[in-house]
Amino acid sequence: MTEPLTSPARPILSIEGLSKQFGDHTAVDDVSLDVRPGEVVAIIGPSGSGKSTLLRCINLLESPTTGRITVGGIPTEVDGKVSQRELVALRRKVGMVFQSFNLFPHLTVLRNISLPQERVLGRSRAEADARSMALLEQVGLASKASSHPPRCSGGQQQRVAIARALALDPSVMLFDEPTSALDPELGLEVLSVMRQLADEGMTMIVVTHEIHFASDVADRLIVMADGRIIEQGDPKTVIDDPQVERTRTFLSAIR
Ligand code: ADP
Ligand code: MG
Repeated sequence: MTEPLTSPARPILSIEGLSKQFGDHTAVDDVSLDVRPGEVVAIIGPSGSGKSTLLRCINLLESPTTGRITVGGIPTEVDGKVSQRELVALRRKVGMVFQSFNLFPHLTVLRNISLPQERVLGRSRAEADARSMALLEQVGLASKASSHPPRCSGGQQQRVAIARALALDPSVMLFDEPTSALDPELGLEVLSVMRQLADEGMTMIVVTHEIHFASDVADRLIVMADGRIIEQGDPKTVIDDPQVERTRTFLSAIR
């Protein structure tokens, strides 16, 4: 009766009719989106088009006005009455990486990654530290384990933030302009870690203006404007031959 959660036929993340109002302003307007296991979805669009609000609603950092979010087959009605239990359950499955890395400056890199595992998953310190070290290897920062974030470059801090999110074994990773606070060369090391994650089959939604990343790594490109999805499709097709005038204007502005 129950299908395996990773069945390719079934989306790992399903968003239905998601809207978010701030007063009388509609920041996200009836967005629906299915993401398949292992799919990488890039989202672009002008500033103020609701990209961040959409991501923040998906892991309930922002409480959506209406909609339903299903992760791994478990639906949550998100109409402002989400229980604490549902919120914690959903947030565990959806990792998020922000433009500003949001690490604790007074904790070492290792503790930044281990502490959430102990608090959220109840892992022992030894277990959490072992997992953190493996992730630091993966993002190329094992040598920084005992450093404090302010001693690390922005690119290193963002890679730590990615490791911290991965440490909770999420089903989906959300990235909100993860490189836009970084100098280009530091952005590249972050994009390279993200590309590696994508190659390993992580399901990802990435808000980005890095059109090369979107074109090379994403399976699908979504264009948002005024809180809505105005165009989506194969990234190269959308970039080379946009069907909607606003997409064309936006793409020529960022290239
Ligand atoms: P983007 O990430 O695409 O630049 P945002 O999701 O940040 O867009 O914002 C979408 C719209 O929602 C904007 O008009 C913004 O001003 C508004 N908005 C975002 N967050 C808030 C908030 N906390 N309160 C009021 N308005 C907000
Ligand atoms: Mg934003």
